[in-house]
Amino acid sequence: MAKPLIVCRDLSIIYNKGKSNEFKALQGVNTDIYEGEYIILFGASGSGKSTLMYSIQGSLPPGEGTLLIRGDDIYSYPPSERVYFQRYVMGIIFQSFNLIGSLSVLDNVALPMIFCDADRTTRERRAQSLLERFGVGHVSHKIPAMLSGGQQQRVSVARSMVNDPKILLADEPTGNLDSVSTQQVMDKIDEINTFDRRTIIMVSHNAAHLSYAHRVYYLKDGFVVREVVNPQRKQIKPVREGETIVTELEQLARLFPYDSVDTLRVKSMVNYLTQQYTYDQLIRLEHAISLFIKGKINKDTFIRALILKLEQGGVEIEEKEAKRMAHTAELLMHQADDIRRFRAKKDNDDIFFSQHKLAERLKDHLLHTHGMNLSKEQNENLVEMIADRVTGVVEEAQFNERLMKGVRGRGLALDTKEADGLTRYFEKIIAQGVDVSYKS
Ligand code: ADP
Ligand code: MG
Repeated sequence: MAKPLIVCRDLSIIYNKGKSNEFKALQGVNTDIYEGEYIILFGASGSGKSTLMYSIQGSLPPGEGTLLIRGDDIYSYPPSERVYFQRYVMGIIFQSFNLIGSLSVLDNVALPMIFCDADRTTRERRAQSLLERFGVGHVSHKIPAMLSGGQQQRVSVARSMVNDPKILLADEPTGNLDSVSTQQVMDKIDEINTFDRRTIIMVSHNAAHLSYAHRVYYLKDGFVVREVVNPQRKQIKPVREGETIVTELEQLARLFPYDSVDTLRVKSMVNYLTQQYTYDQLIRLEHAISLFIKGKINKDTFIRALILKLEQGGVEIEEKEAKRMAHTAELLMHQADDIRRFRAKKDNDDIFFSQHKLAERLKDHLLHTHGMNLSKEQNENLVEMIADRVTGVVEEAQFNERLMKGVRGRGLALDTKEADGLTRYFEKIIAQGVDVSYKS
């Protein structure tokens, strides 16, 4: 069996030891990282992620416990050997890029090669070819300040690779980037793992990044509280017999990365009691629905994705059920457009539907999908209630209550079951149609 590349055993790191402000940033940490793995150290700010990374990098000796890389205690190396290790075994990328402002991009990338035997031309050629690989070859003569953040970070990815390190460390490399640059940098780092087969250790607190990794170590208050295997990636770390029993929790942890193990157990039970689908199927279904909702695939493609076998990348749902799902989803999305139209700000009168007409149409959607017929009075009351609910004048519970109130009390006189069914469906339409902005 392959031996781990990096081993931490009962590792503790104490800042300001023996002083009044002594602080244990890591306690009893155990990790085994194998060659070729993509590992994410995940956790809230201050949980000890960077501390663990810099300890592995050779800049923070363990207070207690051991840290072995390729079987060696790097902190026992003489200084020259430790420098060699940091320069040729480890590459590093920082959140704030750490490029030298007075040097050209090319010189920034070529600089770490200055201590090797290669002559200047060879060094510059290698730097240029790496810059080109990471999509910043055309700016190699500029100084870093003239580049965008995303470009600067891709320059520092090139720099980290210049001495062909075995292990790439990255401390929140996308923390200062917009979403497009983040995607570009994440894709490049992913390529370094899958194509160049380098071991990656990345510090992140972005849950969207977890799917890149083979495994995630969750840190909290200096402890590794959980280790989660990504079931979507073929594992490098040998899985011991009996360990596969946690697979379901691992899958759950992917769906709900912030939940505790107790909460995940509850979810597991609820899922079993209420749903016929496995977590694999749910993850695939979410993906397909997300594409469908965003209009990236049409209904037929959506249905095909639902029917396709799991091993072919599908959700493996029966054809009849898949068609029902697609029909309902399409209906909801279509009806939700009227919610959007209703809420759209209107500054002029040349609109095809007045608010009232839209509320009436929403009412017709509701009655039609529920096969209901109402009296004239009931119809009028429902239109009014719909307008009140969409504008937020009443809440879900009040809407539901009014459905059960008598017609004279401006209600609909429905029974509980009918009212609940209608309310639930209407809330789904609203959820699809109301665009929430979390920014104030
Ligand atoms: P993270 O990267 O998860 O945000 P860090 O590893 O940077 O966390 O820090 C973990 C804890 O150790 C924090 O509470 C931080 O304040 C503390 N800490 C980090 N560096 C030092 C230092 N040089 N001296 C004292 N305390 C530190
Ligand atoms: Mg940090």
